[in-house]
Amino acid sequence: MDTVPRPFAASPRLPRRLLAADPGWQLQADVCVVGSGIAGLCAALHAREAGLSVIVVTKVNIDDGSTRWAQGGIAAVLAPTDTPEAHAEDTAVAGVGLCDPAAVDVLVREGPARVRELIAFGAEFDRNPDGSLMLTREGGHHADRIIHAGGDATGAEVQRALHTAVHRDPGIQLLEHALVLDLLTDAAGRAAGITLHVLGEGSEDGVGAVLARAVVLATGGMGQIYASTTNPSVSTGDGVALALRAGATVTDVEFVQFHPTALYLGADAQLGQQPLVSEAMRGEGAYLIDAAGERFMVGQHELAELAPRDVVAKAITRVMNTQRVDHVYLDARHLGAAKLEARFPSILARCRQAGIDPVTQPIPVAPAAHYASGGVRTDLHGRTSVPGLYACGEVACTGVHGANRLASNSLLEGLVFAGRIGADLARDLPPQAEPAPCEDQPAWVVSSTTRDDLTRAMTRGAGVIRSASSLAETAEELEKLGTRTSADPRPVNWEATNLHTVATALVSAAARREETRGCHWREDFGEASDAWRGHLLAAISPAGELTEAYEAMA
Ligand SMILES: Cc1cc2nc3c(=O)[nH]c(=O)nc-3n(C[C@H](O)[C@H](O)[C@H](O)COP(=O)(O)OP(=O)(O)OC[C@H]3O[C@@H](n4cnc5c(N)ncnc54)[C@H](O)[C@@H]3O)c2cc1C
Repeated sequence: MDTVPRPFAASPRLPRRLLAADPGWQLQADVCVVGSGIAGLCAALHAREAGLSVIVVTKVNIDDGSTRWAQGGIAAVLAPTDTPEAHAEDTAVAGVGLCDPAAVDVLVREGPARVRELIAFGAEFDRNPDGSLMLTREGGHHADRIIHAGGDATGAEVQRALHTAVHRDPGIQLLEHALVLDLLTDAAGRAAGITLHVLGEGSEDGVGAVLARAVVLATGGMGQIYASTTNPSVSTGDGVALALRAGATVTDVEFVQFHPTALYLGADAQLGQQPLVSEAMRGEGAYLIDAAGERFMVGQHELAELAPRDVVAKAITRVMNTQRVDHVYLDARHLGAAKLEARFPSILARCRQAGIDPVTQPIPVAPAAHYASGGVRTDLHGRTSVPGLYACGEVACTGVHGANRLASNSLLEGLVFAGRIGADLARDLPPQAEPAPCEDQPAWVVSSTTRDDLTRAMTRGAGVIRSASSLAETAEELEKLGTRTSADPRPVNWEATNLHTVATALVSAAARREETRGCHWREDFGEASDAWRGHLLAAISPAGELTEAYEAMA
């Protein structure tokens, strides 16, 4: 491992704690859940089944995470003709040799019961006239096993149902507009709660603490480390950064799935979340063209525009790089007004709102960061390497996705592993311990003025297509940005610090992984290599150094 050159001149120094005031107020519960998407709310409901009191802390409003945006659906073996083995096989193919077979086995075998539980929590999915669940198929699945709600509004329905179930339970306290900062641990290193900031709460600066016998991280994805993403604004990688600062192990962070066709809103458009132009439009016959009107997917892959997401994203990026443009076009004009209006009303409405009419104009599109396959490493019970700290949902790396996520497996993963955490909490929860002082840990914040430079650098050098030189340039930029610290501990700077920590870990891993596998594309190492059939693990040492190790698959 040490023979592989590092992209950073020296081991990057990262904070072990966010600079913040001492907690001026305090709450207590058996379990503190951080995040209120599918993973967090399910973990909270399962902890309640175990008779535990719960505080759910969420950065903005309860439904501001990615869950509400999920369109396609949830994959689970529900058809009599389908089998867990077939679902496992499709998952493993997408993960290109890096899925953990035991985690995948848990996912596919426990998934159907967890979906029924979600229905019992109140979620309503689309049904056939005979009352059975309507099942469809998505890319990479060899059976009809995707349930959906309201056509393409699955996530919104899941979020609505869980929100209602959580509100009904007086044993769950919800703290909204509460940004979690760092983990508190006791003298033995076990999680004892978190510090957080709630605007206007307690002392003037709003920093407080939630003491708990266990902490569940369910903070979602990290798409906001890129200039363009399908993820909402809360997806700044806070959970991964917090876990790294707490000394937990993080893995597979180099595997970021990019969606090929996010709506391009113009060079002056705000960075951050961009609307999706669904694959279904290409499925209906829309094709990709460059600025000269030439189709470029034909001849690149036998399925042309319907090639796997990564292949299409890479081809678009190549055209953008060669022609020095920042988008290409999806041409759907030949489908006709009637079909477009009937089949894609919401996409048409969003495009027209942006001044583009897909009936008469090609739609400008560009790839955007979509899903983090890696994250905080957990075992099959959602336990991280820090005792008492759990993780589930997109923030976690349970091992089910490997080098790439199979469509609609992420909501399922959140459901299944949140349930397993609930069962573990019921088994094994020591009494509340006193948090140990942490003043001697290196603490600072990076200025929020770095944010646009950071996201642009990440998209340029560590995005869809990477190489040793592009990653080295990005590392250099991150090193410079990391020195732009601020003496002002407040939300925008805390988020900027989290983005910087996660980006640093990602760039380092992407530079080390000298191969192309799953959604990690190296221009200079075009094939998968047996030598890299394993995981890159990262942690921050007590002195604040990013440390890495390689673990070959058994
Ligand atoms: C546009 C889009 C479409 C998708 N379609 C599908 C699909 O069809 N099927 C599928 O399986 N997956 C899909 N995905 C992926 C899937 O939606 C997510 O992986 C999943 O919803 C993640 O759930 P989660 O509970 O882990 O996180 P989220 O739902 O993102 O929730 C994270 C929560 O953590 C909170 N949080 C974050 N940081 C902090 C902090 N510092 N302090 C306090 N709270 C914090 C957030 O506010 C939020 O409440 C899609 C994603 C997107 C963006």
